Amino acid sequence: MRIVEPLISDFNDASASLPTRSTISRRALMGATVAAVAGTTLTGRASFAMTTKHRLLVDNMLVRAARMLRAAGHDAIVPASQMSRAKLIQRAVREDRILVSGDDSLSRFDTAQTHLVLVDGTDPADVAASLSGHLSIDWLHAPFSRCLNCNHVVEIVDPLVWWPSITEVRTSAPVEVALPLTRCANCDSLHWRGGHAQRMQARLQSWSAGRFI
Ligand SMILES: [Zn+2]
Repeated sequence: MRIVEPLISDFNDASASLPTRSTISRRALMGATVAAVAGTTLTGRASFAMTTKHRLLVDNMLVRAARMLRAAGHDAIVPASQMSRAKLIQRAVREDRILVSGDDSLSRFDTAQTHLVLVDGTDPADVAASLSGHLSIDWLHAPFSRCLNCNHVVEIVDPLVWWPSITEVRTSAPVEVALPLTRCANCDSLHWRGGHAQRMQARLQSWSAGRFI
């Protein structure tokens, strides 16, 4: 299924379609959806050095860092299986992505100068610090606008429809503290702002301020 990246108007439409008999404050929902897209830029791609929205191909060794990049709203895919170095850099060029890796042997490829960033370590904070030294990464670009599992853009869904199925099995938290509720149509997963998401958000804010913890 192909998913079109949502604009602010799409998020507003999602909340506007909620039924009026909702037991959840419409105002609270609107506030949550606006917060969800705060920091989203609607401009097109800029130059390599100045862009705040990146298309990345992240080495298999750096999966946790890839999830944080997705949490920040960046397009960060991880190859499904181990690929040869040559195929990795070829894929980055073909898809116009920046390859993020700790493997310095990749620098021997001619296209490495424009499509490779070498980073230090495998811990997400170390990778983030290293990556920020090479690219102008906006760690608050569009928080939680992408699926952490598969990288696809998520959509805000009606909590009246989806929240009950979550509370039956996973959490007793009131929906207000978990909004916005989003769904990935690609891998059929639901995402809410629970404690884990809040800790990731705090980490992104710290990274945005230059403190890589
Ligand atoms: Zn997904």
